[in-house]
Amino acid sequence: MTHDRRGHVTLVGAGPGDPELLTLRAIRALRQATVVLVDDLVAAGVLRYVRQSARIVHCGKRGGAVSTQQGFIEAMLVAEALRGERVVRLKGGDPCVFGRGGEEVAALRAAGVPHTVVPGITAGIAAPAEAGIPVTDRRWAQGVLLVTGHAQPGHAGPDWAQLAQTARGGITLVIYMGVTHCADITAALLAGGLAGATPAAVLQNGCTPHSRRHVATLRTLAGEVQRLGIGSPAILVIGDVVRAAEAMQEGEISVAHPKPLAAIA
Ligand code: SAH
Repeated sequence: MTHDRRGHVTLVGAGPGDPELLTLRAIRALRQATVVLVDDLVAAGVLRYVRQSARIVHCGKRGGAVSTQQGFIEAMLVAEALRGERVVRLKGGDPCVFGRGGEEVAALRAAGVPHTVVPGITAGIAAPAEAGIPVTDRRWAQGVLLVTGHAQPGHAGPDWAQLAQTARGGITLVIYMGVTHCADITAALLAGGLAGATPAAVLQNGCTPHSRRHVATLRTLAGEVQRLGIGSPAILVIGDVVRAAEAMQEGEISVAHPKPLAAIA
C-alpha cells in the first residue's frame, strides 16, 4: 500500500450548530484527523467525533475579539500537512459560504498540498427552513440571494439600492453578518424602493436549542432587533417567503427544537 507522507487537509462544513446536522462524511473526516483547526461558530458537540489523541486548535474570532490571522491559518494548514498530519479545517455551516474556503483551497493548491472539501449545511438556508421559511417558496419567490451585511475593510459593501430592486422582483434576500448593522441595511433597502411592509425575519442561533426567531416587516425589523437584544450569530431574511412562517404572525415564531438523539457511534 502506498502512503502519502505529505498528509492531507480536509475543509469540513460543520453545519449550522446542531451536531446532528453534520454529514456522515464530516464525521468520517473528524474521526480520521490528527489535527483539527476549529472556527468559533462550530458547536462544541461536533468535537465529540474527534479522536482523543488529535490536537485541536481554536482559531476563531468572536464579537470583534482578536482572531487568528487568515494568512497564519493558511500557513499552519500547509505546514501541518507537509509534516504528514491529517488535518481537518472545521468551519461553521458550509466552508465556502462566507467561510474563506476558497482562499484556503487556493493556498493549499499553491503549496501543492492534497486537499478535499466536505460541504456543510449553510445557516442561511437551514435556519429559515427550521423556522418554517422556505427561502425559494415558489408562491412568492423565484430565487434567493446570499448576501453579506458586513463590508470587508477597504471594500464597498453590497449595493443595497440594487438589491432592493432585485428583492422587489421576487428574489429572497438572506443576509449573513447583518444583525449589527440591521438599521443601516433596512434603511438602505427602504431608500432603494423596497416596500416597508415587506415581511422580514431575524433568526438567531438557528438550529440550536438557543434559537430565537422573530418576524416583522422591513420597516419594523431593526427596532425589533434592538428591542429584543438580538445579536450575532443571526440571519436576516427579507421577502414575501417570510409569510410562510406561521402564516405571517408578527412576533416570536415558536418551533420546538428536536431532542438530540444519542450520538452516532
Ligand atoms: N460558513 C457559514 C457562515 C459563516 S459567516 C455558513 O455557511 O453558515 C458567519 C455568519 O453566519 C454569522 O454572522 C451569521 O450571520 C451566520 N450564522 C452562522 N451560524 C448561524 C446560526 N446558527 N444561526 C444564525 N445565523 C448563523
